[in-house]
Amino acid sequence: MRKPFCVLLTSLFVGGMVSFLAACNGVDEETARGEVADTVLLDGKIWTADEQNPAAEAVAIKADEIVAVGSTSEIRKYVGSDTQVISLQGKRVVPGFQDSHSHFLAAASLLDPLTGRNPFEPVYSEYNELTARFTRLLLGLSHHFVNWMGWTPLDILIIPPASPEQALSGIRFGMHELLKMGITTIFELGAHWEHYEAVSLLKERGELKLRCDLFLTPEHLDELVERGITRHDGDEWLRILGIKLYSDGWLGPRTASLREPYADREFFWQNDPEYSGILYFDQEEINNDVLKAHEAGLKIATHAIGDKASEVVLNAYENALYHLPNPDHRHTLEHAQVLAPDLMKRIKKLGVICSIQLSFATTDMHFAEKALGSERMSHAYAWKTMLDEGIRCAGGSDFAVEVLSPLWGIQRIVTRQDLNGLPENGWYPDQCLSVEEALRLITIDSAYNSFEEDIKGSIEVGKLADLVVLSQDILEIPPNQIADTVVEMTMVGGEIAYVWPDSAL
Ligand SMILES: [Zn+2]
Repeated sequence: MRKPFCVLLTSLFVGGMVSFLAACNGVDEETARGEVADTVLLDGKIWTADEQNPAAEAVAIKADEIVAVGSTSEIRKYVGSDTQVISLQGKRVVPGFQDSHSHFLAAASLLDPLTGRNPFEPVYSEYNELTARFTRLLLGLSHHFVNWMGWTPLDILIIPPASPEQALSGIRFGMHELLKMGITTIFELGAHWEHYEAVSLLKERGELKLRCDLFLTPEHLDELVERGITRHDGDEWLRILGIKLYSDGWLGPRTASLREPYADREFFWQNDPEYSGILYFDQEEINNDVLKAHEAGLKIATHAIGDKASEVVLNAYENALYHLPNPDHRHTLEHAQVLAPDLMKRIKKLGVICSIQLSFATTDMHFAEKALGSERMSHAYAWKTMLDEGIRCAGGSDFAVEVLSPLWGIQRIVTRQDLNGLPENGWYPDQCLSVEEALRLITIDSAYNSFEEDIKGSIEVGKLADLVVLSQDILEIPPNQIADTVVEMTMVGGEIAYVWPDSAL
């Protein structure tokens, strides 16, 4: 994909000479320039995520790269005798989905595909207050336990497989399930070396069809620094971007760290009226980890749900940037659920990315207002306000906490309703995103999140041919039908990685 500059110059020169000679001899110019495509997709409705050229009908692909985007008649010129021609029959095409926050490898590598249920399949379960409260109680107890042990939830949530080989069958199975949902890039938030090595093995064997960006758990920080690995190493298939840190708990079990005490007393650990959640790091500790990773050229993704947690993490980022300024650091706040106007200002000023989860608002709507009170709610799950304020965001699922399917996620962030259509007008409907805003979060904005906006995230000349064909036009249909859409085809790097069994394509 990336060519050395001298090769580029040579090919430009040679290309220029060939087209000049072709023009002189009257030879078909496209063919002479070598611009016969390996694959063309014609007669579609393409949403490109490219602001200069937002809509198109057709695309031409050579090797793993998009070589032309335009009308069907323009792209027909790229058809040669060996070109694979796919007629889209008016179907909607979007860039491949990129999930900026998942625990896919953690789940897949412990999976035995021959036994048990498929954890990737979206299953909609009705909200049940009693079950949910019990789950939150258990979660809260575990958060307090790990805090008491001096750990973070990562220590119990992310378990390495016994060996990289052992993880392979589960990852292979999971990879297929993700391609089926149109996911072409996955970010793994908290991985061990074994996860990285398992994906490396798949890559060596030529089996890797899903692009993977990994953040390792903090216990690997020293080793990453020693090995000199930075966020720009690796390639478009597999990369260690940096490390994942974990600053506070979750809102449901009232363990997210808030500036002011919780508004309710749901659990016994809230008996102290001053109780405001759990912070797993004090300021000095997180400053040290962040500075070390930042100086080593690693990207930092920190779990921060409560406003106090976000403040502490922003302090640590600001401190690191003071010691080593880098306007293009792209560190993230993962979740960023409860903010305040002053925090939003700081996020923007520091150039921090908020990695938000498409499904969180509808999951948390059952308890968020109770926990926070109405005042804080005006800046919680405020995705629309954040985008309007010009804060850079990226979108993800937080699988296996949430459903993985991006189409389910889009429906939920656009409607802010559960899949039963409740509440009727959406939960805080002024914070609903448009379908295009939601799509951007999981395409071009996620590509920016991995420093790869120049090579993927949109259907644009020169970018990797990662794209998805959908059974319905999600930009036209009522938003409450988006989750029913089927991914008919997923293409990764110009290769058809998945075709829906009943697809006519
Ligand atoms: Zn997570």
